[in-house]
Order: sequence, then structure tokens, then C-alpha cells
Amino acid sequence: QKWSQCGLTRPILETIDTLGYEKPTPIQMQALPVIMSGRDVIGVAKTGSGKTMAFLLPMFRHIKDQDPVRDTEGPIGLILTPTRELAVQIHRDCKPFLKALGLRSVCAYGGPPIKDQIAELKRGAEIVVATTGRMIDLLAANQGRVVNLKRTSYIVLDEADRMFDMGFEPQVMKIFANIRPDKQTVLFSATMPRIIDALVKKVLKNPVEIIV
Ligand code: AMP
Repeated sequence: QKWSQCGLTRPILETIDTLGYEKPTPIQMQALPVIMSGRDVIGVAKTGSGKTMAFLLPMFRHIKDQDPVRDTEGPIGLILTPTRELAVQIHRDCKPFLKALGLRSVCAYGGPPIKDQIAELKRGAEIVVATTGRMIDLLAANQGRVVNLKRTSYIVLDEADRMFDMGFEPQVMKIFANIRPDKQTVLFSATMPRIIDALVKKVLKNPVEIIV
């Protein structure tokens, strides 16, 4: 299969070309059409499979399809991770696409002063990549005036098994309580223990499962 058959727009394809990704990986081939059909998806894939692009590329399309007004409303795409390293990595993977698509992304994680991330968010961003703990702090900051998830309609839970192992399920549920019911949710996990099954049932609607 070729990139040109994946239903992506020209600026996305051109950026993929500059990155030198010759063809989609197996997880990308399977996940792209299903995610772009709007379904909730569970992807069981390990790091190295190309899973990040499998959820980023449909997110870019999703955001462009919303035709966002350039304002300071909250993110349309929200990616939640269990660790700051993963958030930084995903944010880095977004970067080449941001310029080509005219989108802004903010990376938020615990450790550095929250005020810097607040300032960035106030300038507006269509994408937020965040650890769950910092996301909750940001939602609560300044009585909720810093960021809200009212227009968030595409949400990714990456490395969900680690999120669960680290005890972040309550945080995930708290964040989800702020998101509209007609959102699309994509969950990626390296493993699929029974315990994740329970989380999946709570937050995903009739998901398609893709295992590579
Ligand atoms: P991931 O599984 O998302 O951590 O990706 C593993 C590595 O594969 C990253 O360094 C990506 O830049 C790279 N990658 C992602 N998609 C492709 C592709 N279609 N062809 C070649 N490399 C890719």
C-alpha cells in the first residue's frame, strides 16, 4: 500500500515525504482508514511499530476538517501520556506537520513551572500533548480560564497499559468528564491486560480493535 491511498491531504503527504517515510507501516495501514472513518479504536502495538503516526496523521486531518478559527479556544486534539518523555517525543513528531498545516501544539508535563505552559496555552493551540497529572492542573488553573476542552473532539490515550500501571485511571476519568460525548477516542497500548478492558468499556464507544 502507498501513502497516496491513505486518504491524507496533500500537505500531510508532502510532509511525510520530507521525513523519508517511504510507505505506511502495518499498524498505519490498518489504523488510518478506521480512525479516519470516525470510529473509536484500540490499537495494540509496541513502540517502533509507527504507532505515533498512526494516531497523529488522522488527528491532523480531523483538525483540518473542523476548519478551526484561529482563536484562543482550547485544543481540538488532545493526546494524553503516562510520562513526560513520551509527551515530548510525540510533540517532537508533530512538529514537522504543524508548519505545513498551520497548526499549533503545546506540550505540557509536570516539573517545569506551570506558568510557562499556561502562557503558551493562552496564545491558543489546536493540539495539546500532556501527561494526565499536568492536564488536570491546567484545567483547574485560574478557575478554569486557562484551558477548557469544550472543542476537544479527538482524544488519544497513548501507552494506556503504563497509564494504568502507574495508577492514572482516576485522572483519565476526570479529564474525560470535561470532554463532549461525541468525541472520537483512540487508545494505544503495548499489551491488552484485562484491567485495560475495563477502562476501555468506560471510555470507548464500540471500538474497533487493531492488533499488529
Ligand atoms: P513509534 O512506533 O511511533 O515510536 O515510531 C517508531 C519510529 O518509526 C519513529 O522514529 C518514526 O519516526 C518512524 N516511522 C514512523 N512511521 C514510519 C514509516 N511509515 N516509515 C518509516 N519510519 C516510520
